[in-house]
Amino acid sequence: MEFKTLRYHALAAAILILIFFIINTLVSNLITPARYTIDKIAPIYLNYAYYIDSSKQLTFDELMAQPERIIAQPFSKIPWSFTAQNYWLLIDLKNKNLKSEDIVAHFDNPMVDHLTIYQLNDKKQLLHTYNLGDKEQDLSLFQYSVPHIRFTLEGQATQHLVIKIDTGGISKTPVNLYRNKEFVDLVRSQTGIWGIFVGVLIMAALYNLVLYFGIKDRVYLVYIGYIISAIVLMGAVLGFGFYLWPTPWQLFIHERVVFANYAIAFFTLAFCTLFLRYHKDNCWRYKLSVILLSLMFILAVSSLFIPENIAAPIFFVIMAALYIVCIILIYNKLRSGFRWAKYYVLSWVPLILGAAIQPLELTGVISYSFTTRHAFLVAILCEIVLMAMALADRVRYQRERALYHATHTQQTKLLNSAKLKQAFMMLQTQQRRAILCLVKIRHFNSLNTIITPAQGYTLIRHVADKLALQLSYEREFIDLDNDLSAITQFSDLGSGVFAFISTKTQSQVMLEERLTKVLAGLPKQYEIKGLNLQLNYSTGFSYLNENDDFDYWLQHGYLALKNAKDSINKVSSSVHDKQQVMDVTLAAKLQQAIKTNKLALYYQAQLNFSTNKVNGAEALLRWPDPAFKSISIEKLIILAEHTGIINELTLWIIEQACQDIIRFTQNGHPGHTVSVNLSAKNLTINNLAEKVENILIKYQVPAHLLKFELTESAFVESQEALIKLVEQLNTLGVKVVLDDFGTGYASLSYLVNFHFSELKIDKSFVLDLPNNHTHQVIVQTAIDMAHNLGLSITIEGVETQEVHDLLKGMNADHAQGYLYAKPLAYDDYLLYLNSQYNLKMLDSPF
Ligand code: C2E
Ligand code: CA
Ligand code: CA
Repeated sequence: MEFKTLRYHALAAAILILIFFIINTLVSNLITPARYTIDKIAPIYLNYAYYIDSSKQLTFDELMAQPERIIAQPFSKIPWSFTAQNYWLLIDLKNKNLKSEDIVAHFDNPMVDHLTIYQLNDKKQLLHTYNLGDKEQDLSLFQYSVPHIRFTLEGQATQHLVIKIDTGGISKTPVNLYRNKEFVDLVRSQTGIWGIFVGVLIMAALYNLVLYFGIKDRVYLVYIGYIISAIVLMGAVLGFGFYLWPTPWQLFIHERVVFANYAIAFFTLAFCTLFLRYHKDNCWRYKLSVILLSLMFILAVSSLFIPENIAAPIFFVIMAALYIVCIILIYNKLRSGFRWAKYYVLSWVPLILGAAIQPLELTGVISYSFTTRHAFLVAILCEIVLMAMALADRVRYQRERALYHATHTQQTKLLNSAKLKQAFMMLQTQQRRAILCLVKIRHFNSLNTIITPAQGYTLIRHVADKLALQLSYEREFIDLDNDLSAITQFSDLGSGVFAFISTKTQSQVMLEERLTKVLAGLPKQYEIKGLNLQLNYSTGFSYLNENDDFDYWLQHGYLALKNAKDSINKVSSSVHDKQQVMDVTLAAKLQQAIKTNKLALYYQAQLNFSTNKVNGAEALLRWPDPAFKSISIEKLIILAEHTGIINELTLWIIEQACQDIIRFTQNGHPGHTVSVNLSAKNLTINNLAEKVENILIKYQVPAHLLKFELTESAFVESQEALIKLVEQLNTLGVKVVLDDFGTGYASLSYLVNFHFSELKIDKSFVLDLPNNHTHQVIVQTAIDMAHNLGLSITIEGVETQEVHDLLKGMNADHAQGYLYAKPLAYDDYLLYLNSQYNLKMLDSPF
């Protein structure tokens, strides 16, 4: 792959070198003839002199009558200016040769209004008068576009040329004498360059017109506008415009050459603004550009009505403003990382160089030559080519970006399923082995209720970075993106699920091992606004079968993910109903409270019907801090579950409960049990049973004094893990109670498959027991069933003596409720316990 692109790059470079070679040869051949002016190749001597007539009234005869006014200096010393004045140039020619020469005098300024050439013999007698200039009638196109005269200089003869330049606008007119043959060469070269220029520009204009129809972007029209104004301007300055449109048009343009300059400046700025997409963000820079554009438009129109020598200096000021605004526009975009603007920035280099050469030549800093004369033309040519490249690059960039958006998620900037699908299709056509592997951040969706979506995306990115690292160690996971610059082996399917593909032939066990290794490298914690989120992952995979389609394959992956061995998927829907949007700061505070021991366990008495004594209690969590007291404990538990704090919390509760069991023993209640509630999410605690055992050993608590209450919702999706946990706890000697019996999904088969020691009937069946016959039947049935299965049964929510009596009659074992005691803080509860025993209440707790 890489080698292939390298080969094409090399080929492109070779083509470029060849083209440069051709251009170089062409240019050097084209500029050669202009070097051979007649004084350089024949023994003809030339003398130069000039006179500037600011009155514009002087006639030829008057000048000849006062030869002392004439300044004998070469033409390069003439102080050309925009002021309205006539220039008289004088040339003496002396042929030292015996043979005669055919001479051409070339006046390289086709925009001069009147160019009168007086040819004199050695006695200063007028031989001939020639009239050139665009204001002259009936010249040939050739005479208009390349003003020149031909004459013969006999051997050993002397002649004089007196040239009168009378024009508005630019007077500077380079005069060069050539032998006929060299002049023909020169004209051929010039025509060649003009042809290339006009040809390339017309091609570019046509091509971009096509692009405009395809892409419908105004910038192409502006570009064409720029091209046309460049042709108009250069056609006027260099003279080839005479061949492009009717002569009256060309003469019209000669009169309004400042307007043409404005047009090119206008389109330069308009292109800069549109190309860099400033019209989309309407910022102050855009407004600045619009102001300058309007100003240029107004000045351009007014330039049609004011003399050129006033309009031109104003134009030069506007040019400076144009450069400044363009620099501001370009700089700002470059700073914000517009990669695709590089060709455009480059296109300014020839323009600035070329634009600088013209005024330098005009002011005489650089001397006239064929090269300097055509420098601006070549600069515009280069610029237009670079602008075309910039436009093409921008289209390529936009396409790339569209592709990027189609293949990446907007929020996490990771590959989405599109590329996964592409890889799937490829593997399927190649009939290769492919296994779709999925990794999921567990409970990611419930996290969304407490962290903002943006925080969720950063979390995904954080995990993704680590996943990328883990996968990069394994060559078996294929690259999904054929971008050469980077390897991306996974895609983001949303909701915290990542997908990648293994193509290695291996046993399922080996793949499982590999995936476990990958999971082990993923972050276990994630800090978010002071809250330490605990992260868990599950993984699943699905094999590609011959006729599967992508959706089916993916669906199977999700199914595998759901059934993943030690994964606990959803929280039961009943818990979901109670969900509220809770903020992460509260979770952080809760976590802090756990760490600093600011939480408390309250105890609620459990009465034994047979002894009529309290011999156990349910431990219930409280957050005594006045600021948080009012928050419902159930909500806190849900918050803890969703943030993963629940594990820390439960371990704290178990440890606290064990310490309290020992204190009960020490305070005279040796057989007093404590039931701790376990949340469904606690099953993700690694080796929970082992940790419980360690705590029991640490505080020397007899196992049978600790009980765990497991609520039914925990059973919904994680049976296997749960069976194992209950077994392990039983082995330790810790009893497990099936809590909230009757409210959830518990089926009778649970009672068979799990080795519970106790059932606990939820208070919802008990509160209205005396008046609700159905509840009476249910409670009675539950009691009988428990007894028949060898389980004891506790009834919670006993608030009245009537219920107490009813339950006693139904043969229940234990009862818990406000009738006996509300949940009490440890000290209060101990007082309550002691008072019970002191009073020795036997038949009734009162
Ligand atoms: P639960 O396991 O069903 O706990 C019994 C709830 O019933 C307690 O509410 C208790 O105060 C209340 N209760 C007890 N006797 C009566 C009565 O006679 N009448 C009425 N109306 N209510 C009575 P609490 O303490 O607000 O706890 C609510 C739930 O929060 C608990 O339901 C349990 O699911 C959860 N929870 C409490 N502490 C913990 C804990 O330490 N760990 C876990 N995982 N969950 C806990
Ligand atoms: Ca309970
Ligand atoms: Ca309950």
